[in-house]
Amino acid sequence: MRHIAIVGSGPAGYYTAEAAGKQWGEDVRVDVFDSLPVPYGLIRTGVAPDHQSIKKVSVRYEKTALSEEVRFVGNVQVGRDVSIAELQELYDAVILATGAPHDRNLDLPGEEFANIFGSAAFVGWYNGHPQFANLAPDLSGRHAVVIGMGNVALDVVRILSKTEGEFAGSDIVAHALDALHGSEIETVTIVGRRGPHQIMMTPKELGELMHLERASPYVDKNDLPPGADDAILEPGLRKSVTLLRDFAAIPENIHGEKRIAIEFDFFASPKAFKGKDGKVSALEIERTTIEKGRAVGTGEVYEIPADIVVTCIGYRSSPIDGVPFDERAGRFANDDGRILPGLYCVGWAKRGPTGTIGTNRPDGYGVIELVADDIGNGSRKRGRAGFDELAEKRRLDIVTFRDWQKIEQAENAAARDGSPREKFVDIESMIAALR
Ligand code: NAP
Repeated sequence: MRHIAIVGSGPAGYYTAEAAGKQWGEDVRVDVFDSLPVPYGLIRTGVAPDHQSIKKVSVRYEKTALSEEVRFVGNVQVGRDVSIAELQELYDAVILATGAPHDRNLDLPGEEFANIFGSAAFVGWYNGHPQFANLAPDLSGRHAVVIGMGNVALDVVRILSKTEGEFAGSDIVAHALDALHGSEIETVTIVGRRGPHQIMMTPKELGELMHLERASPYVDKNDLPPGADDAILEPGLRKSVTLLRDFAAIPENIHGEKRIAIEFDFFASPKAFKGKDGKVSALEIERTTIEKGRAVGTGEVYEIPADIVVTCIGYRSSPIDGVPFDERAGRFANDDGRILPGLYCVGWAKRGPTGTIGTNRPDGYGVIELVADDIGNGSRKRGRAGFDELAEKRRLDIVTFRDWQKIEQAENAAARDGSPREKFVDIESMIAALR
């Protein structure tokens, strides 16, 4: 028998659990830990609420979660309720699938002004993550600024731009839907330090901006390189740039019908936030030029109004006591998934915050191959029986997968018309629903 602990029940965690089941069948026991009483990590609290088709992948994780060898151990925070060293005593392999839940900072003057949020916080707010449910962004100003030109920026822009009707069928939480309904936003400026050829936005996601009921994308055609230059781009990026060209060609009368302008500000490097009465009011920007792919400041500085700012510039993993951490990269220090003997990482905790949900699948299968090489037939470790003893001694209030299913039923039952669920946004309500 092999005993495996996976820390984190998001895509990386469940693909790894699935791989362990495939590798060893009945000869493995896998415990999947999560600090929340609910599983699926980024699928629940990261993927945009209006992208329900992506969230459907959780059906696959559920199948794994319900298999004989795998169990969900929710409401247990590794590092607080149980240490990594303790897990290593009990399990043949401990695999960190903890993702990258923290915002990277811009480290700019004025970043402390109110109404500036990182995307982890802002996305967590509209997705009902208990840690961010009380964020209460002020949407009463006219100008929103989103920093970064990746897919997370697109999610945030779309959520800020949609009408209440356009959220039909989504599982955006009620507090966010109410706040967005009262939003006064008229411009959403997407600030990118490099140019159209360097965006990280993928075509399907970028294309959605064309179909918003009350918002229209603006691109200045003077920012676009000559069309012939697109030939060198890889096909996905070329499609995205073609969409930017389409945006630049939208006639003024079509723009005029829409209340919200989504403006692309390319070659724009944020320099400082300005504030009034403690709240952000403007963003100071330096114009850039691209040299060997890098943004270089030109010395030309200007300001844009900013009543709310969301930075979408990437994420960092959470360090855990005793686990080597690569500060610069913001993830665990690892050699292709190996951290220390018996300790591994997978997904964003291993490679940083890039790639789609599906990228985690080969990652999960890869780390199980390493573990298989390292642990052979396993050892005489106690695995889940040992953990259960420890949990009882510490009076940990463990949430099982069956418990989660009760929470899920309650969330489904509370859904507004057309929505799949109304999520509980605090841990106490989740626990109350299963008791
Ligand atoms: P990302 O794709 O890496 O984009 C980050 C953006 O932030 C880039 O435009 C980057 O510009 C900019 N940035 C970074 N540091 C900056 C700084 N100091 N100043 C100004 N700009 C800065 O990251 P992401 O949007 O957070 O997405 C993370 C991953 O999740 C990606 O792989 C993404 O595709 C995926 N995702 C997918 C979906 C979907 O498929 N629907 C949705 C959401 C997220 P530079 O390029 O100049 O560094």
